[in-house]
Amino acid sequence: MATSGFDAIVVGLGGMGSAAAAHLAARGARVLGLEQFTPAHALGSSHGDTRIIRQAYFEHPDYVPLLTRSYELFADLDAADPGLLVETGGLMLGTRDSQPVAGSLASAQRWDLPHELLETAEIRRRFPTFAPAADTVALFEQRAGFVRPERTVTAQLGRADRQGADLRFGEQVQSWSATGEGVRVRTSAGEHRADRLVVTAGAWSPRLLADLGLPLAVERQLLFWFDPLGGAPQFGVGRHPVFIWEQPSGLQLYGFPAVDGPDGGVKVAFFRAGGPADPDRLDREIHPAEVERMRATLARCLPRAAGTFQRGVACLYTTTPDEHFVIAPHPEHPNVVVAAGFSGHGFKFVPVVGEILADLTLDATTVHGLGLFDPGRFAAS
Ligand SMILES: Cc1cc2nc3c(=O)[nH]c(=O)nc-3n(C[C@H](O)[C@H](O)[C@H](O)COP(=O)(O)OP(=O)(O)OC[C@H]3O[C@@H](n4cnc5c(N)ncnc54)[C@H](O)[C@@H]3O)c2cc1C
Repeated sequence: MATSGFDAIVVGLGGMGSAAAAHLAARGARVLGLEQFTPAHALGSSHGDTRIIRQAYFEHPDYVPLLTRSYELFADLDAADPGLLVETGGLMLGTRDSQPVAGSLASAQRWDLPHELLETAEIRRRFPTFAPAADTVALFEQRAGFVRPERTVTAQLGRADRQGADLRFGEQVQSWSATGEGVRVRTSAGEHRADRLVVTAGAWSPRLLADLGLPLAVERQLLFWFDPLGGAPQFGVGRHPVFIWEQPSGLQLYGFPAVDGPDGGVKVAFFRAGGPADPDRLDREIHPAEVERMRATLARCLPRAAGTFQRGVACLYTTTPDEHFVIAPHPEHPNVVVAAGFSGHGFKFVPVVGEILADLTLDATTVHGLGLFDPGRFAAS
């Protein structure tokens, strides 16, 4: 059955798409949202209880103004669902010239963000769960913390729904086309038409945006929960911060406090330790060698976290060569906006990306700086 009369169709209602639908609907647009799975499902990139949020951004100082806005928008979501955003403090650890330490310091200085630089002994004294080697220092940021991804997606879908968006689940988009007149989307259930299209398909973006030829790599990544030795309270919120720790190998270990009560596990992960993946054939099993690799790192860095393995979950990254996002109007179709390639660090931007996508869709411009995210940077030179 063909439907029309929509101002915008949003394809994919995960982190970014649920935010786009909420912001578009709040601004009065008639929105159709299409999602192949269920609301806040665990088959894409936006599941696993917690996501780090921080402002002294080591990836590039240009992200900081976006993060300032994202904090405001997350605070608004948290006001309706307290605990969705928790500022626990965050430690960025490594050698003095490592990316987490040097990059965070550069962003903190550039934007005058409150921070502390901690020497090895000070890290050990203030954060006894950490066992830093003698050359390890840290930047501490009080405002860092975590957000809850499933609750964020659910809250954004709720807002979109209450503003009149038509949200359909279990409906897979198979193809789309655009002309100067509007867009047409073919799905497992039929065909829909609208004036504009927003593509927020996460790990499925390479298929839906094949015409753009973006160099996106889809990767399998793992989250691990361990029962701490000596009980969870030492890893509780307020005692144990979120952290990102560059290892001598260059690999980053990161983790969270134990968030779910006295029996809660400590969640840890490696940033980009996984291999290429097909999102429809993802190996979701956590293998013993993967657990042991993580446990060996914990035994060295956070020895009291290296207790019994509770559980693990697989998740998908969609990574660009420079690990910066793609957010832009489609170069050939100004009525199509794309947001992809969040490279394993997109969740903390979810609400501001929703705002940007609504801006680009309804106004064809935004006050937010998108220079880092231009797909034109991949054009063969
Ligand atoms: C293990 C892990 C840890 C992470 N940690 C952090 C962190 O600490 N901090 C941080 O900021 N970021 C983190 N990230 C990254 C962040 O979670 C992602 O960048 C973000 O969730 C991406 O959102 P998305 O909307 O692009 O993808 P998704 O949330 O996966 O949404 C895409 C949606 O599109 C739907 N879809 C796709 N194709 C179709 C189709 N054809 N028809 C209909 N629907 C379709 C999918 O089903 C899905 O629901 C982490 C990611 C992982 C995997």
